[in-house]
Amino acid sequence: MSIDFELTAEQKKLKYGMREFAQEVVRPAAERADALTDPQEAFLAMKPAFEQASAMGLPTSFLPKKYGGGGLSNVDFMIAAEELCAVDPGFPTIVLVNGLALMPLTWFGSEQQCEKWIGQATSSGRTDYLAGWVVSERGGTANFDHPSPTAGIQLVADHDKANGEYVLNGEKHWPCNAGGWDLQGADVNLCIVRTDRTKGGKEGLSAILVERGTPGIEYEVIDKIGHRTCQNVTMTFRDVRVPEENLFAHGDGDLVINRNFTWSGSVASIAAVGVARGAYQFALNWARTFTGGGARPIINHQAVGNLLTEIAAKIEAARYMCWKAAHYMDMYDSEGQALGAMNKTFCGDLMQSVVFDCMRIVGVNAVDKKFPMEKYYRESLIFPLYDAGNLAMQRRKAWGVMADAEFSPDTFVDCDPLQFKKSMEGYGVMAEVG
Ligand SMILES: Cc1cc2nc3c(=O)[nH]c(=O)nc-3n(C[C@H](O)[C@H](O)[C@H](O)COP(=O)(O)OP(=O)(O)OC[C@H]3O[C@@H](n4cnc5c(N)ncnc54)[C@H](O)[C@@H]3O)c2cc1C
Repeated sequence: MSIDFELTAEQKKLKYGMREFAQEVVRPAAERADALTDPQEAFLAMKPAFEQASAMGLPTSFLPKKYGGGGLSNVDFMIAAEELCAVDPGFPTIVLVNGLALMPLTWFGSEQQCEKWIGQATSSGRTDYLAGWVVSERGGTANFDHPSPTAGIQLVADHDKANGEYVLNGEKHWPCNAGGWDLQGADVNLCIVRTDRTKGGKEGLSAILVERGTPGIEYEVIDKIGHRTCQNVTMTFRDVRVPEENLFAHGDGDLVINRNFTWSGSVASIAAVGVARGAYQFALNWARTFTGGGARPIINHQAVGNLLTEIAAKIEAARYMCWKAAHYMDMYDSEGQALGAMNKTFCGDLMQSVVFDCMRIVGVNAVDKKFPMEKYYRESLIFPLYDAGNLAMQRRKAWGVMADAEFSPDTFVDCDPLQFKKSMEGYGVMAEVG
């Protein structure tokens, strides 16, 4: 019997160590930050907690040991992330995005690029090192694999061969961490660019690393209703010159997007579970203690008891799906595009409604800002929308895999490998250009 859901002694240590860090360090900082009206100040208020997390090795924990990272498995990262998210999901998003910026090098970069850029993150000796993942655009992210060069990604990188550089022009909207602590840029930003103006999304995209201090970039912070402790920005690029050796995945930027949002999909899923668990813990305690003027606590009402069992079952099921997806991705170096996408859509959508069910248990007091439920609700609204929105990007990815003859309903339960291919992309794009 090889199926085993029991945490090892090390995993329990990780879980409870992370819970203590979340409650003692992240919670007070996040409560202060969430209440600040200026979004950049909110992000900055998390810097001391981030520095403590860095001293523990958290922002580089999932990077390969070979390049100085912690070599943490996806499954172990799930266990740690749930604990942080049960307190505040914005803070671990800062940590996660460091990974989204650097993990693609391990899949698509050269050995030299991995040593240089991942090495810089793991051995800088600094505790405030930040990396950004820069893909989303105002004019549409979900259509990044559209066959027209004028749809999808429009940040253009023209090759100036004579000077050995790429010249970037355009705009990005929503990247996390990318502005850095001082709005002068993260230490490095991994940008998805169009390197061929004549080709569509499956053929014309690449990835390029833009170092802090590169002239020609402006950053403007976005104010948002949830995940206020992480930073999102609009980035404007005007004739930004980047050395050509910083480019990788030439013509395969689409594959970088799909694999990266697969790796992060399970983390976003467990983040949704973490937030729902936090809301459930509060609602359960409320139901056991609040009488509503009656003789006994409201948990004794059948309606309340029934709903609580449904809430608990959904959270348990969602968590185990996250562990399964993470386990599969540990087996195949994060090639699990359909399972990762199904994990993200299932958990993101379901946990959002579970948080509302928890509010129904608490009743009207759930909207009183002195209780944590209103924050859990604002946080839960983000899950179906971010990290490659559920409605199009993630579902289209799973759909494309399922349409392939190599996919079978037994693929994931049998833990069989399944290589993601360009032919699985482009499902659901409308080929004509408006
Ligand atoms: C907290 C947070 C953190 C984030 N971090 C980052 C980050 O680090 N880096 C980054 O680059 N981005 C980041 N984002 C942005 C985010 O990941 C994506 O931009 C977003 O998930 C894509 O949104 P969308 O699906 O609404 O895309 P859009 O392209 O804006 O689509 C808008 C609508 O059109 C629909 N649609 C478009 N095309 C199709 C189609 N072909 N078929 C069906 N429907 C379609 C979509 O489903 C959606 O309903 C972050 C966002 C948030 C809130």
